[in-house]
Formats: sequence, C-alpha cells, structure tokens
Amino acid sequence: MPSSPQQIPIAGGLFTWPADDPRLIASRCTACGEVAFPRQESCPSCTGDRTETIQVSRRGKLWTWTIQRFPPPTPPFAGDAERFVAFGVGYVELPEGLRIEARLTENDPAKLEIGMDMELVIEPFDQDADGNERMIFAFRPVAP
Ligand SMILES: [Zn+2]
Repeated sequence: MPSSPQQIPIAGGLFTWPADDPRLIASRCTACGEVAFPRQESCPSCTGDRTETIQVSRRGKLWTWTIQRFPPPTPPFAGDAERFVAFGVGYVELPEGLRIEARLTENDPAKLEIGMDMELVIEPFDQDADGNERMIFAFRPVAP
C-alpha cells in the first residue's frame, strides 16, 4: 500500500520541523563568531574549519523586499508555472546579524515596509511526485 501523503521539508537541515516554534538552522564559527545560513562546515569569513550548529531567532526586520510576479527559473523558488501566484521575496535581518533571503507570506506591496518586524513560518510550497506536500520557510509580517 502506498503511504499517505505527508508534509516534508523542501530540503533537509534548513529549519526545525515539525515544530511549534520553528527556527532556521545556522552555523556559528567557533573562532570569529560569524553566523552563516544555510549551515556551513567551514567559516565563510575567516575560513576556520570549526563551526557549531545553532538555531537562530524567529523574528527579524525586513531589510529589503520585492514582489516576484513571474515564475523564477531556479530553485528554491521554482514551482508549478501554471499555478503561479505572485509572492513577496525579501531579505530579513536577524539579531544574529544574518540577512536571510526568503519568501514572504505577503504579496501586497501596501502591506510591506522596510524595517517592519517579521516572523518565521513554515508553509506549503508544492507537491512532489508522491503527493507529499513540500514545506518551505517564509517570513510573515508580525501583527502590530
Ligand atoms: Zn570564522
């Protein structure tokens, strides 16, 4: 019997899942403290080869954003072109000093503002060949 469709992460090691309080998984250099996402085995800043895995803050501030109005050609944003819906994409700056490129749950320019508080969420992205729902991380505006 085929197993019933499940929700699965779009890629391993990017975020904690399932979780009530999902976090992105990053690395921190034990030599210089540089934080990197996705997690790196060696430091992109000082090339040190010792990093520790950390979970970074769920909340950050919107650093810049745009609205993606046509299907992008490459992962991780590629999807089903026929069902494409415009979505926001932006960089969210976390307290750790990271700027994370991510989908935004909001695609209305009137509701996005540089510097606003954003919160990490895990949401459905598409379905794989087995009917599993693939989950991706995104940021949504925090209600004032
Ligand atoms: Zn380093």
